[in-house]
Amino acid sequence: MVNAKARARAVYGPDSNFHATEIKRRDLDTHDVLIEIKYAGICHSDIHTAHGEWGPVHYPLVPGHEIAGIVKEVGSEVSKYEVGDRVGVGCMVDSCGECENCQNGEEQYCLKGMVGTYAGTDRYGEPTQGGYSTHIVVHEDFVLRIPDNIGLDAAAPLLCAGITTYSPLNHWKASEGKKVAIIGMGGLGHMAVQIANAMGAEVTVLSQTLNKKEDGLKLGATHYYATSDESTFEQLPKTFDLIINTVSANLQLDDYLNLLTLDGTIVNVGAPAEPISLRVANLIGHRRSFAGSAIGGIRETQEMLDFCSEHNIKPQIEMISADQIDEAYERVLASDVKYRFVINTSTM
Ligand code: NAP
Ligand code: ZN
Repeated sequence: MVNAKARARAVYGPDSNFHATEIKRRDLDTHDVLIEIKYAGICHSDIHTAHGEWGPVHYPLVPGHEIAGIVKEVGSEVSKYEVGDRVGVGCMVDSCGECENCQNGEEQYCLKGMVGTYAGTDRYGEPTQGGYSTHIVVHEDFVLRIPDNIGLDAAAPLLCAGITTYSPLNHWKASEGKKVAIIGMGGLGHMAVQIANAMGAEVTVLSQTLNKKEDGLKLGATHYYATSDESTFEQLPKTFDLIINTVSANLQLDDYLNLLTLDGTIVNVGAPAEPISLRVANLIGHRRSFAGSAIGGIRETQEMLDFCSEHNIKPQIEMISADQIDEAYERVLASDVKYRFVINTSTM
């Protein structure tokens, strides 16, 4: 193996800043691929996890599950990839492969639990460490192929923000004739707008303010409302077939349930740590559903990459160096991101 050690940025506790470090990547097993990481996106989930909001994690922790790079070396029985291939890795790096959900290509719902790209435990019993790093070793089944017309920098955020919004839009059939609302114009939200629009739906953004309205309309939204303006909720009762909630904090859910049509569904992909409450009457009234969705399976992630390639869909990114990760976290927490920070890992 060329690089047993990788340079990385890690946090050492829930209140820690990022520090430069070196981590060991495992030796290549027969089906492993060694990837030289070029770019890593910063997802709000990295922040929830690094801060310990979702429960205790193993520190030091190297976050990062929006990974794009080049194959540097392959194990003796790897058949899907060759040295030099442009590849990506998303939120998971392994699953049992045998349960019903894995067999159906829904590895993210593996009955034994999928292995997260970071803050997980790999099949050798070692803690997994993510993409804020120069190299990673991943089983070939969890590696994605990046289409030629998508730059590696733009590809990185697709591996989480892209698939996490594509999957529920696909599952709940966003399409022509459907009215879809996206809550939150952040990393996930700005991908959801583009993907729902490309699927043919009429897209509305529900953002805290109108500050990003011009961008939202450019990305494919037809309507854009500020949720800080109470008249928004009075204007839109029983309007949407599907609402994708990408917000990282808890909302007054009842206000949004009332915006759903008969049989409408609100899908939470946003994952705040605290429990939420809702009035059941707002579900019963119009046979509405409140649902959740986690990333997407490997097959669907490849489908999403090919869909984005075909429809020329890309995230809007702000490139940063490894020294700017702490600052980027602050800005994400302040909803001050247009629309995804991506780390150039050559600065590790
Ligand atoms: P992000 O870039 O920070 O975007 C979240 C957006 O939500 C913000 O830009 C802001 O949009 C809005 N927002 C933030 N705080 C708010 C508040 N207090 N009230 C109302 N709106 C608020 O985050 P992200 O990376 O897109 O991730 C969003 C959430 O999805 C996180 O909780 C993350 O952990 C979760 N996630 C889940 C999955 C999954 O598989 N389900 C995968 C990835 C991420 P406006 O400025 O437009 O209001
Ligand atoms: Zn993510």
